[in-house]
Amino acid sequence: MKIAVFGTRKYDQDSLRAANEKQGGFAAFTFIDALLDSRTAILAADHEAVCLFVNDICDKPVLEQLSALGVKFIALRCAGFNNVDLKAAAELDIKVARVPSYSPEAVAEFCVGMMMTVVRKYHKAYARVREGNFLLDGLLGFNLNGKTIGIIGTGKIGLLTGRILSKGFNANVIAFDPYPSPSAGEYGITYVDKLEDLLKVADIISLHCPLMESTKYIICDDSIAKMKKGVVLINTSRGGLIDTYALIRALKTGHISAVGLDVYERESSYFFADSSTKVIHDDTFARLLSFYNVFMTGHQAFLTEEALTNIADTTITNLRDLEETGTCACVISEQPK
Ligand code: NAD
Repeated sequence: MKIAVFGTRKYDQDSLRAANEKQGGFAAFTFIDALLDSRTAILAADHEAVCLFVNDICDKPVLEQLSALGVKFIALRCAGFNNVDLKAAAELDIKVARVPSYSPEAVAEFCVGMMMTVVRKYHKAYARVREGNFLLDGLLGFNLNGKTIGIIGTGKIGLLTGRILSKGFNANVIAFDPYPSPSAGEYGITYVDKLEDLLKVADIISLHCPLMESTKYIICDDSIAKMKKGVVLINTSRGGLIDTYALIRALKTGHISAVGLDVYERESSYFFADSSTKVIHDDTFARLLSFYNVFMTGHQAFLTEEALTNIADTTITNLRDLEETGTCACVISEQPK
């Protein structure tokens, strides 16, 4: 199968090549640096499948272009699929598959590391010590032991994050999820009935729900107003869960005392590329980066060897099954509300 792989970095290419070799060389890849959008879709000509990641744009116009070029399958090498118009794909008879779980541990571990970084200020200490400055002023943190940490969304990643925090740090981990998990108790997590109940008492809030119509801007002026003053916010899920203007307002007043972000709502213009010699034109993004108490990474939480191997293996399996049987275990058909 000829597969156009958009938005690839060397680590994607290496892992996909290795998985392909393991699975008998079913795939012939064309690796493309650019993200998929209406300008780059033409590069999929003469391919039966496209392979995409989180920031490729796969809306109706792009899907129509892909369909006209003969593309039959879309293999997402990620779990989230908010960037694909599934209704349009179904109308065009394009099958879409994803990698529902490649290493929730990778994201959960990263998330807790980010929480510790923000709370204990590792990033500032690192920079200071390298400059020969060993002063501790401005590095004051607080213990996670005994603190109330609110997890929004207790799927695979939220549960694991909660487990690390409750079992490892002895934190009081509470969670909100409209579909509670029966395993939460084993993970040391206690549910609250309403999101509001979590917002009111949590010292730290960590986002782990997917981006959907119903969760867009779940963190907004309204929800922030319900949070404790001085709350710490961590987002390793999707940028669109947070209304960035509201976040900036809350950082300015100090209502939110510190933030760790691995994602940003308009990240696609900057992330996964070296923008260090470019001017940032997104003033909101630039403002966010300017806060002393905002720690940001470039959508890195998934990036472990284990995750890349699982992503590549599942992607090849998905495409092979789709071609051979017309479906696969990880096919997605419905856009959640
Ligand atoms: P999952 O599907 O296993 O779990 C998502 C959970 O969110 C479910 O339990 C669901 O019921 C819950 N949920 C839905 N609506 C909610 C709401 N309104 N409030 C609270 N909870 C709600 O997903 P997962 O594998 O745990 O991944 C979670 C998210 O992490 C993904 O959607 C993806 O956006 C993000 N992610 C980020 C990275 C990264 O590198 N930063 C990597 C992988 C996944």
